[in-house]
Amino acid sequence: MTASRPSRFHIEIDFNREGKQTGFARIPHSVHRSAYGWIPMPIACIKNGAGPRVVLTAGNHGDEWEGQVALGRLIRELDPAQVRGTLIVLPSANFPAAMAGMRTSPIDGGNLNRSFPGSPDGGVTSQIAHFIATVLLPGADYAFDFHSGGSSLNYIPSALGKRRKTKASTDKLIGLLRTFGAPVSYIGTSLPGLDQTLSSAAENLGVVTMGTELGGGGQVTPAILDLAEAGIRRLLAHVKAYTGPVTKGKATRLLEVGGPDYYVYAPEDGIFQPLAELGDSVKRGQKAGLMHFNHTPWREPAVASFGHDGLVVCKRAVGRSERGDCLYHLGTDWKG
Ligand SMILES: [Zn+2]
Repeated sequence: MTASRPSRFHIEIDFNREGKQTGFARIPHSVHRSAYGWIPMPIACIKNGAGPRVVLTAGNHGDEWEGQVALGRLIRELDPAQVRGTLIVLPSANFPAAMAGMRTSPIDGGNLNRSFPGSPDGGVTSQIAHFIATVLLPGADYAFDFHSGGSSLNYIPSALGKRRKTKASTDKLIGLLRTFGAPVSYIGTSLPGLDQTLSSAAENLGVVTMGTELGGGGQVTPAILDLAEAGIRRLLAHVKAYTGPVTKGKATRLLEVGGPDYYVYAPEDGIFQPLAELGDSVKRGQKAGLMHFNHTPWREPAVASFGHDGLVVCKRAVGRSERGDCLYHLGTDWKG
């Protein structure tokens, strides 16, 4: 069903060859305007002898930009002599979505990070997931997937990962989070429906993962891009895949993100008026936002409240909202 058949993609580069190579993973795409056409998904490999194999991805959601910019620069600037092992870099993992400036694919509506393990016989998004899961991740030591808030959310720049089964592997994750050096880092618990992610696919293969939520709001900010670029180099040095210069990261505030009560959702359709900002410490029951009804403005706005004490690490970036849209999520200090 999934891994039983090989990926249909043709890769222009050879992951076993020494040095730096750039090219495309060709996604077969036969459509009305192009009978034998393919979608050119850019990919790079930088290899220098023995060492870890590290897969670096961004643009898993197409409208999350800092990681895509940072990985492009990494491809351009990294000297293979500074590398130990193999870096495989996929800067715009859901390439059709990235080219459209969208979270999801304009071709099939697919959310790549809800499409793993994917299928070689599925839509384009499912095929990309399958390619990552069966071609890039097997044999990798590390997979770093750089996300941001995208068009609908803003984050305090964060590094993150899921709680591991053993304390030793959780400590290893915490080492990666501290190395990346974002203002906050958090360890999450999987929400229902979030087990079809790239990181889940990697962890199922025994690959050590770490992700980020960099800024968001559909934009790139200089300070967050600086963090992404420096943090990526620190991570690569930490896992002994890079010997070039690094800058020292800042201390990170380690948080955990628990279950559904850490999240606030719009209770009704309307215009979202936030009542808290990123970085605020809030209390359970505190008003989080108002939903205004511009179709019946004489009606009192609906109130959304926080369900838990915590630090606001994520906030919706968009006014017009529908019932069920995520308005906030919180973090609380990591207790181990
Ligand atoms: Zn994302």
